[in-house]
Amino acid sequence: MTVTELVSYEDALTSYDPVMGLEVHVELGTKTKMFCGCATTLGAEPNTQTCPTCLGLPGALPVVNAVGVESAVRIGLALNCEIAEWCRFARKNYFYPDMPKNFQTSQYDEPIAFHGYLDVELADGEVFRVGIERAHMEEDTGKSTHIGGAAGRIHGASHSLLDYNRAGIPLIEIVTKPITGAGARAPEVARAYVAELRELIRSLGVSEARMEMGQLRCDVNVSLRPHGREAFGTRSETKNVNSLRSVERSVRFEIQRHAAVLGDGGTIVQETRHFHEDNGTTTSGRVKEEAEDYRYFPEPDLVPVAPERAWVEELRSELPELPLARRTRLREEWGISAHEMQSALNAGAIDLVVATIAEGADPAAARKWWLGELARRANEQATELAALPITPAQVARVAALVAEGSLNDKLARQTIEGVLAGEGGPDEVVEKRGLRIVSDEGALGQAVDDAIAGNPAIADKIRGGKVAAAGALVGAVMKATRGQADAARARQLILERLGAAE
Ligand code: ADP
Ligand code: MG
Ligand code: ZN
Repeated sequence: MTVTELVSYEDALTSYDPVMGLEVHVELGTKTKMFCGCATTLGAEPNTQTCPTCLGLPGALPVVNAVGVESAVRIGLALNCEIAEWCRFARKNYFYPDMPKNFQTSQYDEPIAFHGYLDVELADGEVFRVGIERAHMEEDTGKSTHIGGAAGRIHGASHSLLDYNRAGIPLIEIVTKPITGAGARAPEVARAYVAELRELIRSLGVSEARMEMGQLRCDVNVSLRPHGREAFGTRSETKNVNSLRSVERSVRFEIQRHAAVLGDGGTIVQETRHFHEDNGTTTSGRVKEEAEDYRYFPEPDLVPVAPERAWVEELRSELPELPLARRTRLREEWGISAHEMQSALNAGAIDLVVATIAEGADPAAARKWWLGELARRANEQATELAALPITPAQVARVAALVAEGSLNDKLARQTIEGVLAGEGGPDEVVEKRGLRIVSDEGALGQAVDDAIAGNPAIADKIRGGKVAAAGALVGAVMKATRGQADAARARQLILERLGAAE
């Protein structure tokens, strides 16, 4: 194998126009498998969630999971697809040890949903439309674990373990049309597409779509064509790219690699490739099968799926507000930029901010606490915002205490710290820790008098009209009250006592 020097990304884009195709597999969150009644619970003992059907034992007959079909139709509708009036499953024949039937029940030339699109928003707020070729139903395979080889690969392994719990779990595969016109933004478009699709799937409630748990997996096809040429180049297909960042990096890498091969007068072979998270490169997998290699034929053991039009329309009318439309609406309501909304999205803060506003906080305060102090703490603990032990109602209460002047920002942060530490709700923490701002005349007045008495030279300057010097005395008051004084009121009192006016 020759190692090709990469071409710089900019040089690659000067000569070529990238074309991409993204195939995303979503594992549905149904209670049972696609063609049998086995449970789908994650983390169960290996091979405890199997039956004759999903093990492919002779004579076992599959039955279609109605929730699986409904989820597929809802995903299709949300992706602006046409829904087939009648479609069938097909057998995709190949041997692999984690697929006990020796075929995967899938859909081939009759997908349940086709010809749609998904609008995705780029970082600068530009909307890019990605065409959807099809969304079809299929089943997952089992899971092989290779023991003894390097990096879990089968090469060099001494033996392999098979767990069929995952075999037969419903998958929806969503395939884009060739994505053209993205130019240098191709990696960003690919990432934004997968991110938006993930949001969409979650908003439909059909899957948690957690990439790190394999519930959403992406194959990334890339090819290059010289500028001005219609025909597509040969694609490579990078398999199972399992994070948003990897999607972006793998597209970028493949653009550079293709440009290098083509620039040297070489040809790209159509093959599958593996992405390596550690160094951001891809390496060759296997030469790609053609569709005819799979000997697809209609599945004889399953009845066709013919979604009734009235039912499809009912599902359409029940779709939730979709994520991009919702973010656009919220952006207006909150008065923030596309970029700021992107940050809120990336932090997983949107629903939390919405809930905090619903509890009475104003949008700016709700965003500030979730994206500032709380995001920092979530980050510190390597957890998600939603997993922090504080509720939107509690954050709204903290914001209210700040708004009414009972807490300043510093005290509010201490209050939040107390809530997170399990000391109770905001009011309880304020009470127990004695965090309320000192603004009552007695305590504050005493602190002011002490500050004046302790700094006679500064006090004289203020008496002499140098009002700006009051800052130093306010500082002394803040120090004496451990930051709990109402600074504005302290300043007023100092000036009054010293007979100076603003
Ligand atoms: P396969 O299962 O063989 O990978 P699919 O049709 O399921 O084929 O997926 C191929 C993906 O690659 C689709 O998203 C398609 O739009 C895209 N694609 C097809 N041809 C090219 C090409 N020359 N360059 C980039 N992407 C392509
Ligand atoms: Mg493919
Ligand atoms: Zn089963």
